[in-house]
Amino acid sequence: MSSIKSPERIIPTEEKNVTEKRTLYLVGTPIGNLSDISERALKVLSEVDFIAAEDTRASGKLLAYYGIKKPLISYFEHNKRERGEVIVSRIIETGEACALITDAGMPAISDPGEDIVRLCAERGVRVSVVPGPCAAVSALAMSGLFTGKFVFEGFLPTGKGERREALDALKDEKRTVIFYEAPHKLRRTLDDLLAAFGDRKISLCRELTKINEEVIRTTIAEAVSYYAEREPRGEYVLIMEGASKEELLSRAFWADMSIEEHVEHYAAEGMSKNDAIKATARDRGVAKSEIYNAVMIK
Ligand code: SAM
Repeated sequence: MSSIKSPERIIPTEEKNVTEKRTLYLVGTPIGNLSDISERALKVLSEVDFIAAEDTRASGKLLAYYGIKKPLISYFEHNKRERGEVIVSRIIETGEACALITDAGMPAISDPGEDIVRLCAERGVRVSVVPGPCAAVSALAMSGLFTGKFVFEGFLPTGKGERREALDALKDEKRTVIFYEAPHKLRRTLDDLLAAFGDRKISLCRELTKINEEVIRTTIAEAVSYYAEREPRGEYVLIMEGASKEELLSRAFWADMSIEEHVEHYAAEGMSKNDAIKATARDRGVAKSEIYNAVMIK
């Protein structure tokens, strides 16, 4: 028996064009260029009963540009608990449809949208997504770095201890890492990345889709010197390459051991000679026979 109580209905494609009542719509909006908005996003924004916006002034400009007039309610970091309740109650009690838009890009990605989605899930309110631009994915796509596997870190914590913990946890991460950063914190972040990861490749993607869009494909140390001479400006996404095989190997506990010492290490832990050889071969990424020959043929 499945423990899923009320799976959300799968909506056939043709029905997706009907803006339904009693629903919270997560509507992706431009990350800079006002033209980056879908036909469906404009339709939903025109048809819902009200719009919850992170920054009502900025969103007011977007809506005015497209001639959309709707009651706006603010929903942001510092009122999200109380306002989330108000929005969700309105959807439940009056059956209204609400669209959530955040400052830029996809709601719920590094912004308070995630809290209201959770609240909707708890209260059984339907959530529907109208996908749009996302700064992280846009930056990754143009970074020139490996995109096959990646992790999204969003903003690094600002507190020293938490920040160190977050960076330490990423030390052995092989996948490409994505960070969000504000211009006034960029220098500190680059310094911290250099101290934590050494001089890896990094792409600094700034002002995406805007007039000053720029991608600086460089290394962390070069980025540090580059910004020592100029003021960081605009919004940034940092795409950093993951740990290389060589880097991981150089940090392995056995990096300074000979093959014999490596096998001995496992044997001293209670492994049979055969298992110790197997474990050593696995660590070093070589064939078991290679280790066997090195240890036995002496
Ligand atoms: N929910 C949004 C998304 O995922 O697209 C992100 C919201 S987060 C509060 C804002 C951060 O996204 C900025 O500090 C910056 O790191 C990044 N960002 C947003 N717009 C950007 C742009 N045009 N160019 C580069 N980075 C951008």
